[in-house]
Amino acid sequence: MTLPWLGYGFDSRSPLHITEETMSNRKIADIRNEVVAAQLKQLEEYFGEPVLPMSKYCEAFTIWTTCIINNNKDPKLVEPWGGQGKDYHDKLGHIMMDIRKSNLLARILYDKEEFRTEQCPEHKGHWSGNAMLMGNCPHACDGTGWLRAEKKK
Ligand SMILES: [Zn+2]
Repeated sequence: MTLPWLGYGFDSRSPLHITEETMSNRKIADIRNEVVAAQLKQLEEYFGEPVLPMSKYCEAFTIWTTCIINNNKDPKLVEPWGGQGKDYHDKLGHIMMDIRKSNLLARILYDKEEFRTEQCPEHKGHWSGNAMLMGNCPHACDGTGWLRAEKKK
């Protein structure tokens, strides 16, 4: 999929690029679709909200972003009153790029980490590539500048 506002397609190594075809070709889970559907139904009842693979949410956000951008760039689609996103549509490409490369979002969504609220005494809330890559922060902030939630206790 090519993102017109970025001028290039998804990085195929990104978890954001998992498609239904990719999912169906996976060998990691040898379970049938009806078993998955039954489990999803149970999970949705438990949580009281939709339960979907992360890729489905990412795809929905990408579709929404593309629609907002197109509705503000295509003269045939622009509303006389400006339309939704008239004040920010030109920023969405950058915002989506920052979301895709966000370490914070990866930690929360993929690692299921609690949001860090206490600053690292050394890195004081600032990202450190050296500490992240070398793992050498004496407070184990992982280069994020913030202490893990479990470290506070
Ligand atoms: Zn640190």
